[in-house]
Amino acid sequence: MKSVILVGSTGSIGTQTLEVIRRYNEEFSVLGLACYSNVDLLNKQIKEFNPKYVCIVDKSKRDMLISGNYKLVDTIDELSDIDADITLNAVVGISGLNVTLNVLKRGGSLALANKESMVTGGQLINANRDKYFGKILPVDSEHSAIFQCLNFEKPTCEVHKLILTASGGAFRDYSLEQLKNVTAKDALKHPNWSMGQKITIDCATMMNKGLEVLEAMYLYDLPQEQVDIVIHKQSIVHSMVEFVDGAVLAQLGYPSMIVPIQLALTFPNRKYSGTEYLDFSKITELNFAKPDFTRFPVLKIALDVAKVQGIMPIVMNGCNEVLVDRFLKGQINYLEIAYYLEKVLNKFENNRIESVEQILEVDNLARAMTTKLMR
Ligand code: NAD
Ligand code: MG
Repeated sequence: MKSVILVGSTGSIGTQTLEVIRRYNEEFSVLGLACYSNVDLLNKQIKEFNPKYVCIVDKSKRDMLISGNYKLVDTIDELSDIDADITLNAVVGISGLNVTLNVLKRGGSLALANKESMVTGGQLINANRDKYFGKILPVDSEHSAIFQCLNFEKPTCEVHKLILTASGGAFRDYSLEQLKNVTAKDALKHPNWSMGQKITIDCATMMNKGLEVLEAMYLYDLPQEQVDIVIHKQSIVHSMVEFVDGAVLAQLGYPSMIVPIQLALTFPNRKYSGTEYLDFSKITELNFAKPDFTRFPVLKIALDVAKVQGIMPIVMNGCNEVLVDRFLKGQINYLEIAYYLEKVLNKFENNRIESVEQILEVDNLARAMTTKLMR
């Protein structure tokens, strides 16, 4: 039986992870559960999965937790120090950084959904993974697709390019004129995937694909030039690997996060997932197009950041987290996201990353600068 610690259990990835564990409950035991503040759902999960450790970050909700045979852990960082066979990081934002680092520092297996930790701490994360022989199993569907196309191995010099597919988000077909008036409510209507709010907004600006390019660069140790993006509106091809001889391998399936989540848990084995099998007779077309930087300037900004790396991905991520929050609250409009990202990035000089403390400091500075400029 594999023990699982699930950080971010009440979210979109978290609840789907528990669906997998529920289906294969004779193979997995839930060792730990953590969330930010959704105590009602966490209580239901505690009842059903009987974890040994529980963490709720919002202290004001602690006395609402049901009693049980578990130990209350103060922080998600502490929870991730506990030895589990697999720790799945499904937290949103840079708050997941220490979870990712801690699991690798104890040489553990990390199922990684929290892309923001890879974007901000990639170099440090890889150094720790290699030093302590930790393992990262990608949960993000594109990165899982690549992992599968690479036959679960690291890329060799035979890999020419990784090709990430992008649905294009809620505003894929909007004109620049239309984009002036879109709201968070419009952005939350994603055509193909049902996800948490932050990532859904990131899809609508295409920041998500920018973050995923950085995530792929660090996961697969490749420069930005070897990670391409193609718009693929059906979300059937989840990503591809092009080899030096011109052969391209792709992973296909109907859009479902259950498949990559389950594979990260059952790796190296595959199991029935309950996901509908592809019916090729019903797929009349698969379209591919270049991303449009004029309508999606945020993606261009993110790719420029990916080229230079250093502290710039941290600045961009911190600034973006603040901007997405403001956009969700209706305090800034859609086009201002690109505007402020550019402005904040221009205030920073690039530098090397030496430590996790420095990452968190740069993140704080970027957030403060964003807030200051928006006044
Ligand atoms: P979500 O908002 O639905 O859930 C986030 C979870 O993290 C919740 O359980 C919440 O309580 C917890 N959380 C939030 N802030 C926290 C904090 N500061 N400390 C501790 N816990 C906190 O988000 P999601 O859509 O499930 O996404 C989670 C991560 O997975 C993100 O990094 C996202 O980019 C990535 N991801 C999501 C999907 C998807 O389909 N939802 C796909 C690929 C990658
Ligand atoms: Mg993805």
